[in-house]
Amino acid sequence: MDVRRRPSKALRPAPKEPSSAPEPTGAKASDALPLPLYFTNALFFTLFFSVAYYLLLQWRDKIRNSVPLHVVTFSELAAILSLIASFIYLLGFFGIDFVQSFIARASNEAWDLIDEEEGEDHRHRLMSCSPSIADHIIPAVSSAEDEEIVDLVVKETIPSYALEEQLGDCKRAVRIRREALQRITRRSLQGLPLDGFDYGSILKQCCEMPVGYVQIPVGIAGPLLLDGFEYIVPMATTEGCIVASTNRGFKGIYASGGATSTILRDGMTRAPVVRFPSASRACHLKFFLDNPSNFQTLADEFNKSSNFARLQGVQCSIAGKNLHMRFSCTTGDAMGMNMVSKGVENVLAYLRNEYPDMDIISISGNFCSDKKPAAINWIEGRGKSAVCEAVIKEEVLKKVFRTNVATLVELNMLKNLAGSAVAGALGGFNAHASNIVSAIFIATGQDPAQNVESSHCITMMEAVNDGKDLHISVTMPSIEVGTIGGGTQLASQSACLDLLGVKGASKEVPGANSRLLAKIVAGSVLAGELSLMAAIASGQLVQSHMKYNRSTKDVSKVGS
Ligand code: ADP
Repeated sequence: MDVRRRPSKALRPAPKEPSSAPEPTGAKASDALPLPLYFTNALFFTLFFSVAYYLLLQWRDKIRNSVPLHVVTFSELAAILSLIASFIYLLGFFGIDFVQSFIARASNEAWDLIDEEEGEDHRHRLMSCSPSIADHIIPAVSSAEDEEIVDLVVKETIPSYALEEQLGDCKRAVRIRREALQRITRRSLQGLPLDGFDYGSILKQCCEMPVGYVQIPVGIAGPLLLDGFEYIVPMATTEGCIVASTNRGFKGIYASGGATSTILRDGMTRAPVVRFPSASRACHLKFFLDNPSNFQTLADEFNKSSNFARLQGVQCSIAGKNLHMRFSCTTGDAMGMNMVSKGVENVLAYLRNEYPDMDIISISGNFCSDKKPAAINWIEGRGKSAVCEAVIKEEVLKKVFRTNVATLVELNMLKNLAGSAVAGALGGFNAHASNIVSAIFIATGQDPAQNVESSHCITMMEAVNDGKDLHISVTMPSIEVGTIGGGTQLASQSACLDLLGVKGASKEVPGANSRLLAKIVAGSVLAGELSLMAAIASGQLVQSHMKYNRSTKDVSKVGS
C-alpha cells in the first residue's frame, strides 16, 4: 500500500465554520454582544454619562423645589436602571483588569518591603502563611506534603532535576518545580500553562526540568497537490502571513496541475575526529577507509547496532595529524542522529584495535555538520536531498498572484541568485525557505535547530512554453526529518504527522514516511517561494504584512 493518501474533502478547510469552542474563561460581557467592541464601549460610555448628567439635573431641581429625593418619576427610574446597567458593563470591561493589576502591584510591593526590612526567612513564612497575596503570584500546591517539598527545593536540599525520579509522578514534579521557581525568582509563571500536557511522554526523551509548555498556534495550508496526491499541511508559527502565503502558493500550484518531487539522496551523517602521532599515520587510515574493498568490513561493524542504520560511505578530510571521517547511512523513518552515532561508535571501536595509536578526540568533529551552516551539507547533502518543481500557468500568475513570468524571472535572478551571491550566502539562494521549514518542523516534532541546514535551498525560475508559463523549482540538499523518535511521538506533533499520512514507521518500506515528509516540506517551500516572490513582484508584501502580521495591541505596555 502506498503511504500517500488523498485526504477527504472533509479534511479541507471549510470556509468560515462557526466555532464550537467554549468561550475562554476570561471572556468579558462585551464578548457576548454581536456588535464591534468599540461600538458597545462608546454606547455604554455615552449612556452612563448622559443618564448621570440627567439625574444630577433632576436632583438639583428637586432640592431647589424642596421635593423629597426618594420620590422618583418613571423617567428617573429608567435613568437609574440605565446608570446601573452601564456601570456594571464598564466595571466588567475595565474594572477586572484594573483590580488584577492593582493586586499584582500590591503583592510585588509587599515582597519588596519584606526583602528590605525582614530578609528572606520572612518571605518564606509569608509564602506559606498569607495565601491571599502569594496566590496572585503562584498557585498553591495541593497538599502540605508538596508544600514541604517545594520548600526543600527552594533551599536546594532536593535538586530540582531529581523530582521526577524521587516522586515517581511527572505532573506533580512539574507542579512542585514550577512553584519553587516562582518563589525563588519571585516571578509569576501565569500564562505558561501547566495542565493539559502529558509530562510522562517527554521524560528522558524530549525535555528536562519542565515547568510547563509554550503554546504555538497550528494553522493549515492546502491542499498541496504533489505527485498526484493531496496533502493538508500543518504549520506551527506565530508569524502572521506565513500560512496564508503558503496557502496561496498551494492554490496556484493546484490550479496549474500540481508539483512534482524527487528524493535525490537519503543519508544521515556523523563525523568523528581522531588524532595520530603523525600526518602520515592519519593518511594511512584515510586510504584504508577510501579503499572499496574495506567497505563491507566497515559496514558489518557499523550496521550491527540497528535494524535500520545502513552504512552508505565514509568521506575523509585530513587536517595535519587529524582525520575527520564523515560517515553516512540510511536511517529508516528516523531522522537518525542516534542511530548514526551508535554505528560510528562501533566502527571506532573496531578501528582502535587496528590502529592502536589512534586517539579518539570526539564522536563529532563538526565535519558532519549538525545545526551549523556548513558548505559540506550544501554540497554533499545531509538527511534527505530533494528537488521539487512546477509549471505555473500564465493565467494563474495573473489571477492568483497578480504578476507575470518576466517580472518573476528577473526578480528571482536579482534577488535569490545575484543578491544572495553578493551577500556571500551559504545555501541561502531563496526568499524565505526557513519560514516554511521551521513552521512544519515545529508542527511535526522535528528538531527545530536543524532548520539551519534543512532550509538550504536554491530557488530557480525560468520562462517556458514560449515565455508564457513559469517553471519554478526548489532544490534542498539537507532536509533532516523523521517520523519516528524524538519529538515526533508527542501527542500534538504525532497528530500533525497523521494529518499528512506519515505518522510513525512505514510498515511497507522503512524510510518511505520520512522521505515523503521531506517531499512535502520541499513542496511547501515551493509554494512559499512562489507566493512571496509574487507578493514582492506585485508590491503586495508590505500591504499583506500590515494586514496579517501587525499587532493591533499596544505592545509598548508589555514590560520586561
Ligand atoms: P534518531 O536516531 O532519529 O534519534 P531514535 O534512535 O531515537 O531516532 O528512534 C528510532 C527508533 O525507532 C530506533 O530504536 C529504531 O529501532 C526504531 N524504529 C522502528 N521502526 C523504524 C523505522 N521504520 N525507521 C527507523 N527507526 C525505526
